[in-house]
Amino acid sequence: MNEYGIKNPNASIADLGLGNVGSAYWNLTTPELVEETILQGMGELTDTGALAIDTGEFTGRSPKDKFTVLDAETEKTVWWGDINIKFDAAKFDHMFTRLQAYLTGREVYVRDAYACADQRYRLNVRVVTEYPWQNLFVNNLFLRPTREEIETINPDWVIINAPGFMAVPAVDGTRQHNFAMINFTKKMILIGGTGYTGEIKKGIFTVLNYVLPQHKGVLSMHCSANIGKDGDTALFFGLSGTGKTTLSADPNRGLIGDDEHGWSDKGVFNFEGGCYAKCIDLTEEKEPDIYRAIKPEAILENIVFHEGTNIPDFSKAHITENTRVSYPLGHIRNSLIPSIGGHPKNIFFLTCDAYGILPPISRLTKAQAMYHFISGYTAKVAGTEAGVTEPKATFSACFGAPFLPLHPTFYAEMVGEKIEKFNPHIWLINTGWTGGPYGVGSRMKLSYTRAMITAALKGELDHGSYDTHEIFGLHFPAHCPGVPSDVLNPRNTWADPAEYDRKAADLARMFVENFSKYSSKASEEILNAAPRV
Ligand code: ATP
Ligand code: MN
Repeated sequence: MNEYGIKNPNASIADLGLGNVGSAYWNLTTPELVEETILQGMGELTDTGALAIDTGEFTGRSPKDKFTVLDAETEKTVWWGDINIKFDAAKFDHMFTRLQAYLTGREVYVRDAYACADQRYRLNVRVVTEYPWQNLFVNNLFLRPTREEIETINPDWVIINAPGFMAVPAVDGTRQHNFAMINFTKKMILIGGTGYTGEIKKGIFTVLNYVLPQHKGVLSMHCSANIGKDGDTALFFGLSGTGKTTLSADPNRGLIGDDEHGWSDKGVFNFEGGCYAKCIDLTEEKEPDIYRAIKPEAILENIVFHEGTNIPDFSKAHITENTRVSYPLGHIRNSLIPSIGGHPKNIFFLTCDAYGILPPISRLTKAQAMYHFISGYTAKVAGTEAGVTEPKATFSACFGAPFLPLHPTFYAEMVGEKIEKFNPHIWLINTGWTGGPYGVGSRMKLSYTRAMITAALKGELDHGSYDTHEIFGLHFPAHCPGVPSDVLNPRNTWADPAEYDRKAADLARMFVENFSKYSSKASEEILNAAPRV
């Protein structure tokens, strides 16, 4: 076994139980990893110098194949169910042995990185990847230790990711050949059978969602964050595709981060050191900052080129709808490094309501804020599946249930305390449909959503008249600079208002039904913030 590159001289791949690999390449530079990727036939350079790769069979996360080891550490703390799926501790050890065997004689790439921009909470991560581009992804998304730091660094957590290793369900106790499993006692994540990079990123997010709220008194959040010229921080919570990354990249504000943050006694800090943006239909005109971040170091995932060129065609979803680009935070012109801001003055809950019911912007009371935080509503549009025409409501507690190892009320209570203490303005933004549901209406124009957020941030919606939604009880402004007033009231945008009322009542019933599993723990005030059915 040979080890190359820069590392802590006291560290060896053998410490991780991988002493039998062929070669271990430690902390290679970006050009080295790009060159190696191309050499191995796994990627190409685009016209702007980014690396384009395919993640393979999986182009998205696989929540049904994410497991958590059940042991003395987790038994009583983890919220077990179909999000946190139990996995036998002995089976985990067995899986690790099989991975060790798989990696024997192979080349692997090792990266030292860390999470949490606030050094008080820093979590060092050592990631071993089978493919060179995965290693570059880790370098893009996590924070980078300095050269001196690498020479003394020791990992708090270890991730081993071998996309080429296939689990055998009957032997390994998995559901199918791919898996991501977290062991909180051994502080280890094993990922196999999938090359989707989001598994690495969200694996560490899950770890932080366990450690920070329980042991450090820090609220962990699935949100993006940015900061104004006066130092006012804004948070944008939302499930996948609702606009966290898009809306936090605002040319007039400094970007703190696009996906995962902590809220401590001092304020807000990014967990990561990079961004992971969607590319579908990306244009320079609509999203200039993200578009221009696609340059050397950035990795494009699962995109296709304009025929006969190396120019990406972002309008195509030939491989997947979920085309992505990862890049270090510094690729965004206005990024804030170190990525730490004060206590938020404004909080936006983003929802992509494909039913076209919720107003594009509403100002929430504290009780409504708690109700909507616990509900975590968004709607997915019908995919490419034949015959599916109706959008599908999804409720995901705290706008991030797939990544929460603890019960949602744990986070909700912390949010409640923060809101009480710091009294931020809280807004519900519908970045989804207007003028009717998916198939009839259209998605809210990005320029309008941006104008609404800018108006809220500037305090332009603090006065002026508000209307109240009959069913949802939401307060929405009658006017907003830069937005035609008729889009502010969704009922007015539908061809048939009676149909709107019927569909609004349907959605309200879904909210109430979903909330029934939390109602025993919620106060009278929060229960009163529910829609009327
Ligand atoms: P993830 O958690 O998966 O990273 P995200 O919340 O960061 O998701 P974005 O990457 O910001 O989601 O995706 C929002 C997508 O919706 C982008 O492709 C954006 O161009 C598109 N979009 C269209 N209209 C709007 C709108 N009005 N507001 C926000 N995004 C919009
Ligand atoms: Mn995002």
